[in-house]
Amino acid sequence: VKKVGRKYEADTAPVKQAAVLGAGIMGGGIAYQSASRGTPILMKDINEDALQLGLDEAAKLLNKQLERGKIDAPKLAKALGHIRPTLSYGDFGNVDLVVEAVVENPKVKKAVLAEVEAQLPEGAILASNTSTISITELATALQHPENFCGMHFFNPVHRMPLVEVIRGEKTSDEAVARTVAYAKALGKTPIVVNDCPGFLVNRVLFPYFAGFSALLRDGADYQQIDRVMEGFGWPMGPAYLLDVVGMDTACHADGVMAAGFPDRMAHEGETAIERLYSLKRLGQKNGQGFYRYE
Ligand code: NAD
Repeated sequence: VKKVGRKYEADTAPVKQAAVLGAGIMGGGIAYQSASRGTPILMKDINEDALQLGLDEAAKLLNKQLERGKIDAPKLAKALGHIRPTLSYGDFGNVDLVVEAVVENPKVKKAVLAEVEAQLPEGAILASNTSTISITELATALQHPENFCGMHFFNPVHRMPLVEVIRGEKTSDEAVARTVAYAKALGKTPIVVNDCPGFLVNRVLFPYFAGFSALLRDGADYQQIDRVMEGFGWPMGPAYLLDVVGMDTACHADGVMAAGFPDRMAHEGETAIERLYSLKRLGQKNGQGFYRYE
């Protein structure tokens, strides 16, 4: 976090009411994280079933905490009470910070961001959890791009400590500082990064996957590579990690990296990720990727 972030952070009012748009894998996780750390959060989606999925995910995670003796029943009830599901923007008038976590589609995101901005009080912060879309580009849909930045959580939200806070061209220092402060209130480790394809983590991760794919083309065995990387001390190897990420997500992000850094990331021939994706072996989400799952 740059110095300027710290300076603003000191003067930053804490987020008292948050909101998340989208109750999917990420939205449900963000709602759980905020509620369990004591910041009330509105969770908005476009239909009841989606909202229920998000609530179920948060309840499942809280029940796990209860089983492990990390929280008691009153604390569980209090945390659940901090999540308010909604289908409308009716209650957004007192929201301090919104995390947008709807589908990874620039058109949908721009429409949703413009729609929610109109409902927010002056000075409220809008942050997108996009993995691959430029923050500066998304900001073109907004009246107040200075209040907008990226807030990129990793999956699963409750386990992954890092959050990338992405500064678009027009993002203000204060927006960065408030988002950093909220990430810290959620118990996360924020890093402030500039807006570029892959932000920071994927700029490290995707060249690594490219190296892995090249080894497979040279005849290496994916299980052996996984064992080597585990032996090296990493919690999992690249094949297993790709199964966790999902071949659809990885394929999309790989395309963004190749377009953003053609000299370094463009490749000839089919990669292992592309091959598995074309075979619909998406990874853990559909039972088979590199490995098979029950
Ligand atoms: P998901 O498909 O699980 O959930 C998206 C949710 O958005 C759905 O419930 C959908 O009904 C809802 N939605 C669609 N339009 C909406 C609207 N107009 N208003 C409110 N809700 C709406 O997706 P996800 O995996 O949670 O991903 C969400 C975002 O997070 C994407 O931008 C993705 O790139 C990013 N992300 C995903 C991961 C991951 O591993 N899944 C990791 C980091 C970031």
